[in-house]
Amino acid sequence: MYLYALLLMAFVGLVNLAIGWLLGRLWPHGGAKTLSQDKLRELTRQLAEQIACVSRDIQHHRGQIDEAHQGLLAVHEDEGASMPLLLASVAEIVRINAGLQSKLGAAEETLKEQGRQIESWSVQALTDPLTSLPNRRAFDDALARRLAEWRRAQTAFSVILIDADHFKSVNDRHGHFMGDFVLRRLAEVLEASTRKMDLIARVGGEEFAVILPSTPGPSALRAAEHCHAAVAAYNFRHEEVELHMTVSVGLASVARGDDDESLLRRADEALYAAKHAGRDCVFYHDGLHIERLGAGGASGDSSCTKDSTESPDVAFGGTGDLDRVCRELSDRAAQLFGA
Ligand code: GH3
Ligand code: MG
Ligand code: MG
Repeated sequence: MYLYALLLMAFVGLVNLAIGWLLGRLWPHGGAKTLSQDKLRELTRQLAEQIACVSRDIQHHRGQIDEAHQGLLAVHEDEGASMPLLLASVAEIVRINAGLQSKLGAAEETLKEQGRQIESWSVQALTDPLTSLPNRRAFDDALARRLAEWRRAQTAFSVILIDADHFKSVNDRHGHFMGDFVLRRLAEVLEASTRKMDLIARVGGEEFAVILPSTPGPSALRAAEHCHAAVAAYNFRHEEVELHMTVSVGLASVARGDDDESLLRRADEALYAAKHAGRDCVFYHDGLHIERLGAGGASGDSSCTKDSTESPDVAFGGTGDLDRVCRELSDRAAQLFGA
């Protein structure tokens, strides 16, 4: 009976371990939100079936062991019982245990296979299928982690938004296939021009975002310009078609009191300013001002670290621009926040 109790405990422990392992994969970042509802339902059904199956096997095993136990008791009480009879009873118990072990082994394999399946679903749910870059959801997760780190340890980081200029005309003139080709190459160029530690994601049709960990404003400016220049220098060539693309870039660095919305809003306002300044340029938001990086602007100079006591304004080439962009930014803020 001891043997039986030990075996049963070991089996239950094994099953619990396997299920725990599986659930660990199911919720790798604190939630099942990376799986679609249908897949999650299917997985839950499979798991329930698996557990019912293991439970049936264990019950069956218990019945068999009880029978074998009764057999052994009978041998024990029968004074005339022979050694071969005793050996046959023990052999029967060994056979029953081996049968259960093999069934549990198969169950464990199935659970592992389900774990692998879930892992692959999780990766798919966080990856953009066209470019294989992390998608918007992966970007949001990474941003949340950086913000948590910033709040805890004041580790500054920056966000770059990059939008391909006049991308619609690529599709219109050269077809959707060429458009897809350009998007894939853009992803490669941007990946090659950022560091390994940076996270680059495709967050919209022709829009990319980069998180630059441990990177405050001045270094982030260089990174943003690097991305901008790398795209401008690249020859997007497919068969007979050769294209030169440009991107507009908006940059913002994390600041005290930021959440994902406020940080992305600043980067987006900088990107919006870049589009309205004629595209093919980099703008950054320093918390108070939106400035242009590069020719005629604040490129590489100290204006990105302006005194924060200055009154907010928006610095552009001419006063006409200034008025227009101010109006556009306030329209956009009203749209975003319903103000
Ligand atoms: P702007 O310089 O103002 O950003 O202009 P744009 O043409 O780049 O921007 P717009 O928003 O007018 O058009 C974006 C286009 O991107 C329209 C859409 O069909 C295309 N697009 C979005 N996703 C994909 C995709 O996955 N593949 C292809 N080929 N095109 C896409
Ligand atoms: Mg665009
Ligand atoms: Mg766009």
